[in-house]
Amino acid sequence: MELFNLDAIRADFPILSEKVYGKPLVYFDNAATTQKPLCVLNKITEVYTTQNANIHRGVHYLSQKATMAHENARQTVADFLGARSSKEIVFTRGTTESINLVATAFTERFCKAGDEIVFTQMEHHANIVPWQMAAQRAGLILRVAPINERGELILEELDKLLTAKTKLLTLAHISNVLGTINPVKEIIKMAHQKGIRVLIDGAQAVAHSGVNVVDLDADFYVFSGHKIYGPTGIGVLYGKSELLEELPPYQGGGEMIQNVTYEKTTYNELPYKFEAGTPDYVGSVALATALDYVTNIGIERIASYENELLEYATSKLLEIPDMRIIGTAAHKCSVISFVIAGIHPFDLGTLLDKTGVAVRTGNHCAQPLIDLLEVPGTVRISFAFYNTREEIDYFIAQLKRCIAILK
Ligand code: PMP
Repeated sequence: MELFNLDAIRADFPILSEKVYGKPLVYFDNAATTQKPLCVLNKITEVYTTQNANIHRGVHYLSQKATMAHENARQTVADFLGARSSKEIVFTRGTTESINLVATAFTERFCKAGDEIVFTQMEHHANIVPWQMAAQRAGLILRVAPINERGELILEELDKLLTAKTKLLTLAHISNVLGTINPVKEIIKMAHQKGIRVLIDGAQAVAHSGVNVVDLDADFYVFSGHKIYGPTGIGVLYGKSELLEELPPYQGGGEMIQNVTYEKTTYNELPYKFEAGTPDYVGSVALATALDYVTNIGIERIASYENELLEYATSKLLEIPDMRIIGTAAHKCSVISFVIAGIHPFDLGTLLDKTGVAVRTGNHCAQPLIDLLEVPGTVRISFAFYNTREEIDYFIAQLKRCIAILK
């Protein structure tokens, strides 16, 4: 089963040796955030220790060094996503801010009252609420594409929702609740045939599947650094340059300007037009370190190993009586949501915590989906490539004990 040296990999992540309540930590909440390898932690210290200076404006040595590191990091992100140019990479605070940026700027530039935005039933709040806010501002209509009982998008229904009125389709690459991997390339093609732009929420995808924005032909692709072993507080908006050129700025301030008078401002070129204020030039460099780390291991190997964990854990879970796995799509990533008849997910999560196993419970920031599924929430386990089959065995044994206590 081992595709790489797991001991060496685990040694890269100091937190995995922590104990909780005196028990070894079993961290199965990777869809919420991933742990950080030493190289990322060391990079943060190194940047602050050796090259901390505000970027872009300084004539002095440190500022130039910090600027170069930040811009090299942008190139690393561009290469990681297969973007044509680093100009197409905007640093943001994360997926949420990236979507808010597009929801604000795209609708301001391209939408008028009565136009439609389409998203899906499996979206995270981050890909619902910004569109509701934009819809309220601009008088837009929101349409929601349905999923089937396995948690897969019904492509024929989605196709019907994409009409001459639709200005943008926005959807998750991978669902954080169901684990469904959406066929985004096919969907983007479907939308483009009707002249509709597409935003892909890659928050759950970048760390678990290779992404190439040019191959996908995505108009916008967004993700958060903290979900791919990088620091929190930094994220990415990829946008096709011809589209980003057209969008108005999202926030005003320093960095995003070319010329300012008391009366009028002209804006900076891409991508700086969208990066008002001092950027997170430490986060960007640490994110690039994380991306290099993942690239060195190999995203295909990671995906393949995580898929083995997914299959192993799924088969073990299904041996448990009254187990209902929520999300049984044909193409899934290593996220498993489940409920057990008669037991509240919160109670299970709380008991599991005491055994050292960190799981997520609740609506996973996807309340409309949880309501649709008619469950009070789910227990969610989600794997990273540093998780092991032994951890799954331990988790299953503890889960059985917890169920026995709660039944
Ligand atoms: N979309 C999806 C699919 C997610 O899983 C998440 C994080 N749970 C987000 C958006 C929001 O990401 P962030 O909180 O890092 O902005």
